[in-house]
Amino acid sequence: MNTRDAATNGIPPFAWAPKGADTGSLSLRDWLAHLAQTGRVATIDKPVALEHELAAIAKRLDGTQAAFFTQPGGHAMPVVSGFMSKRAWIAEAMGVDESALLARFSAAAAAPLESKLVGREDAPCQQVVHTSDIDLHALLPIPTHSEHDNGPYITAGLVIARNPRTGVQNVSINRIQVHGRDRMAILLLPRHLYAFQRAAEEAGDALDVAIAIGVDPLTMLASQAITPIDHDELEIAGALHGAPLPVAQCVTNGVHVPAFAEIVIEGRILPNVREPEGPFGEFPKYYSAKEAREVIEVTAVTHRRDPVFHTIIPAEMEHLLLGGIPREATLLAHLQRSHPAVKDVHLSVGGVCRYHLWVQFDKKREGEAKNVILCAFGAHYDIKQVVVVDTDVDVHDPAEIEWAIATRFQADRDLVVIDGAQGSPLDPSTTVGQPDDAPAHLQGVSAKMGLDATRPVVYPAHVFTRVRIPGQDTVDLDALVAADNRAFDAYLSRDHG
Ligand code: MN
Repeated sequence: MNTRDAATNGIPPFAWAPKGADTGSLSLRDWLAHLAQTGRVATIDKPVALEHELAAIAKRLDGTQAAFFTQPGGHAMPVVSGFMSKRAWIAEAMGVDESALLARFSAAAAAPLESKLVGREDAPCQQVVHTSDIDLHALLPIPTHSEHDNGPYITAGLVIARNPRTGVQNVSINRIQVHGRDRMAILLLPRHLYAFQRAAEEAGDALDVAIAIGVDPLTMLASQAITPIDHDELEIAGALHGAPLPVAQCVTNGVHVPAFAEIVIEGRILPNVREPEGPFGEFPKYYSAKEAREVIEVTAVTHRRDPVFHTIIPAEMEHLLLGGIPREATLLAHLQRSHPAVKDVHLSVGGVCRYHLWVQFDKKREGEAKNVILCAFGAHYDIKQVVVVDTDVDVHDPAEIEWAIATRFQADRDLVVIDGAQGSPLDPSTTVGQPDDAPAHLQGVSAKMGLDATRPVVYPAHVFTRVRIPGQDTVDLDALVAADNRAFDAYLSRDHG
């Protein structure tokens, strides 16, 4: 599909697509080339240690430039990090303005496109195949990120598996600790991959998986869509690309992987095997404790010629936005089902793009903002604080939210507190007063706080009228401001007596 056809189907043109490219095949390399052309890649062409040093450099560059390491830990294989660490870059990758980002993501999630199975000759991810004597540490430059991490972790791997009952695939990003030559421990949160693994385990079977590393930004984003079970996230990636995603069958199992991935690790989650995993520095900027986790035995590693390894620096912007934007799209759609007057939402960066939700709402009747708050708490257990503001407040600007709370909120009247609900088990404040070994079913109990920072629907003249200066948005500064300061200098040099 060329750009012109794509445009007529409502798919935005992609500034980063090579001329005449099949947009389904857009790859990480296309995006990195685009970033480099626009000064957004920092190349570190010196030896860099995989333990901490690489992550420290990438963290410093996060949100400004992608970091590209040519000599990570003595490997010939480069590492890249931070190529989607700004909201504006993600909108650019999707081919839309930032204001249309959530709507575009929701539209793709609602209209997935079936993937296109290609043969090995058309699957760059299988140009090089390793099936025997696998040593992950020798094959791949896997960094150790944070101070107390228990060794190297794969943080940007799309874990793909099939539902043993229905055969439908699922994609998620899970943290994966590499603690053996061909052995890894994986964190399974109680979502779709977890359900597949438990179903396989009950039957005494291993669960075949593939871990795709180094995919384009659209496929990364699609992997984080919050969908019902048995919705293959790769089909949402296809919809975001505006063309079916080419996928290849793994060489040692039946899982289908993005054909243009840089690297694929194939393996099986073993039944009834658990090994220690952690500690690991997670998105709330705290560590998860060491616990017994499911184990992947690796059966193959395949990759492109000259592959690049992607690592996400935990808790930095790439990590936060990748989780945050698909959640925002889901939360917006969820709130709008009950409250069509909800206009926009934002998961704030200070709330680690998970816990604090800001909602812009066109209130027409008193009390409605509190209904919106309650609806948001029900949408996802991670939501801990909700602020509802009027349509004249920009929900993407923390100073605007604080202003609305400062001037439109009274704690005795406008505060909603719910105690003892389920929250994020990764929020350390939920552990206060609990024993260290609290069982999983007692973890994550959290209060919820909602702030109605909307003004009354009807108010006395000027009381809640935001100060504005007529013309502030329309004056033509280019026409009015002189090209140089000659007139000002002349004023200064005048003899003022
Ligand atoms: Mn899923």
